[in-house]
Amino acid sequence: MPLSRSETMSRIRSRNTGPELIVRHALHAAGLRYRLHVRDLPGTPDIVLPSRRVVVEVRGCFWHQHPGCDNARLPATRQDYWLPKLARNVTRDRQNATTLHRMGWKVLVVWTCGISDQGLAALAARIKQIPRKSDLAGPRRIGHAGRHGCSNTARPREANRRLKRSSMDHVV
Ligand SMILES: [Zn+2]
Repeated sequence: MPLSRSETMSRIRSRNTGPELIVRHALHAAGLRYRLHVRDLPGTPDIVLPSRRVVVEVRGCFWHQHPGCDNARLPATRQDYWLPKLARNVTRDRQNATTLHRMGWKVLVVWTCGISDQGLAALAARIKQIPRKSDLAGPRRIGHAGRHGCSNTARPREANRRLKRSSMDHVV
């Protein structure tokens, strides 16, 4: 049975949605390990790989206004409602990505329209190319900070600097 627009949107909006699960399963199958919905980081990123200092954001094309994507087109009616709402999402995404980038995280964005076996394999390969921080910073000197397991706060300065060259990057 087809879903109404609002049902579809509420599904896309909620955490642990289908697309996010698909991405998680693909990364896990590729041997990558991650933390979920890390509240210590800006925007509570969906999927976080602390060892590589990588954040994977799974974005619904409509809610996050995937540029040039058919799925991002506004409904013909109530544009005065949708426009500011979606603009806020886009602004927030950009701000979070900028802050994460400044903190030395690489942000990989997966748009839901682009989820395919091929795209996910490319994503996993891309992540694996990013060195683990232990490869960069020597033996792990830091413990977990807080119950979310984010070791970000205690990161050695040198490693931060060296990882900063990584830029925000959109994949898939
Ligand atoms: Zn799209």
